[in-house]
Amino acid sequence: MLSSPEVQRDLGRLTGREHDLLVVGGGIYGAAAAWDASQRGLAVALVEAGDFGSGTSWNSLKTIHGGLRHLPRADLSSLREGSRERAALLRIAPELVRPLPFLLPLYGHGLHGREAMAAALLAADLLSAGGGDGLPPSHRIPRSRVLSAQEVRARAPGIDAARLTGGASWTDAQVESSERLLMGFLHAAAGAGAALASRVETTELRRRHGRVVGALARDREGGEALEVRSRMVLSAGGPWNDRIAASAGIAMRPTPLLSALNLVLRRRLVDVEALGGRGDGRYLFMVPWRDRCIVGTGYEPAGSPSADGGIEALLAEANRAFPWAGIERNDVSLVHRGFVPGHGGAAGLLARGRVVDHEAEGGLPGLCSVRSAKYTAARASAEAAIDLVVRRLGRRSAPCRTATTPLPRARTLAGTLEERARIAAREEMALHLTDAVLRRLDLGTAGAAARDDVNAVALAMATELGWDAARIEREQAALGAAYRPDGSVRDDGPLPPATK
Ligand SMILES: Cc1cc2nc3c(=O)[nH]c(=O)nc-3n(C[C@H](O)[C@H](O)[C@H](O)COP(=O)(O)OP(=O)(O)OC[C@H]3O[C@@H](n4cnc5c(N)ncnc54)[C@H](O)[C@@H]3O)c2cc1C
Repeated sequence: MLSSPEVQRDLGRLTGREHDLLVVGGGIYGAAAAWDASQRGLAVALVEAGDFGSGTSWNSLKTIHGGLRHLPRADLSSLREGSRERAALLRIAPELVRPLPFLLPLYGHGLHGREAMAAALLAADLLSAGGGDGLPPSHRIPRSRVLSAQEVRARAPGIDAARLTGGASWTDAQVESSERLLMGFLHAAAGAGAALASRVETTELRRRHGRVVGALARDREGGEALEVRSRMVLSAGGPWNDRIAASAGIAMRPTPLLSALNLVLRRRLVDVEALGGRGDGRYLFMVPWRDRCIVGTGYEPAGSPSADGGIEALLAEANRAFPWAGIERNDVSLVHRGFVPGHGGAAGLLARGRVVDHEAEGGLPGLCSVRSAKYTAARASAEAAIDLVVRRLGRRSAPCRTATTPLPRARTLAGTLEERARIAAREEMALHLTDAVLRRLDLGTAGAAARDDVNAVALAMATELGWDAARIEREQAALGAAYRPDGSVRDDGPLPPATK
């Protein structure tokens, strides 16, 4: 039976029964897994240590990758997965996910030249054929093309024309608000009966008779200790997965992590299409987003970060990739920063997510974890993880329908700012001003939010949640402190993951 899709924090529901599955982590992977499992009829709980989506998922370039990047390594199954997931997200969240054209200027005739790219685009189109069947015309992915040098100059007038031989033109998709899409998954999960709670951090995975049977947790709002009982646990902690596994007593080789970085620029340097440019041995992309653009992604080994966390290096590389743009530090309104699995640099990024069955790999029944590679692949990884959970539970379950079932509330909230703030508090578990401003109302996702907007949201939340003047002041101070001096944002999630 479907219950309300309102996302309510009810710790009694969390602790008052044994669940089939406890999902640890409320980033996009955990949210997608909670929806998948509850849609198949499992009794699901999800706990998130900070606010939903406040970890890595807050920091993406917002590109829904169709998988072209897998072609140079001839990784055809990842390419197919990318194009399938692009189509799935266009289908289930059409108000948030839309096609976005890409243009990559090509130079010379070698591996990165026009002829090689023509073959790559043709292969990618053939391998993706049919994936978007049934999508409305506005959301269909058109065929890729190779453009002449003249066409490229007309579409990107500032670029270096010397040795330009043409351009690759293809279409991927963009998620307008990665936070609202994540909320869409959570609303769907709540509607299918999942018990969800933010600011509940697991401190230890419980074992009984050699299997994981739930978790001890701490309510970071009220401070009390909780026990969540479940027949299986899925760790969806992104870069925190090793720590969560360690809390079950598993000694794993540490997952190598890269620190990843994007720069949100105040200037909208590209308009209708994203533009690629050759950085240091790889491509950087400049993606239009709202009245701005985002440049990325820079990577450095997480264990040996540079003094400024790579900002100057990425700026310098961006200026080599897009010399016409003259990007300066002052142009940066926000820095995206997060950890992703991989080693070395961009070339060492984990290509594809992976579900780990700890019963098969370490002899610990009751626990599996999902290693995330891309926001794009969260739904597919969730499907694979829940296939495993259902098998391990020995349950018959409804088939997975998350690729075709529209997410009921995957859209921006409607109404005046005050109305939206009240909905965020009442129906979306915005417990703090940071939650509403940064992750429900999209006010602070391109840089610091306007003071008047923040005041209006604080007052509306105060009415809804009974805050007094001192509490409002504390909430505003916490929001201010969430914006770090380097331009990145981090509020009160778990301690940063271990990177050494
Ligand atoms: C700069 C950057 C750019 C990117 N660009 C793109 C892009 O354009 N397209 C794309 O597809 N992907 C992109 N990615 C990758 C994508 O963002 C990640 O793959 C994805 O967000 C990972 O989601 P997740 O749910 O696994 O992790 P997270 O979002 O980190 O979620 C894990 C959650 O677990 C919680 N947690 C940890 N420990 C506990 C505990 N003990 N108890 C409870 N909760 C806990 C954390 O608080 C966190 O919220 C980018 C990443 C970065 C950093």
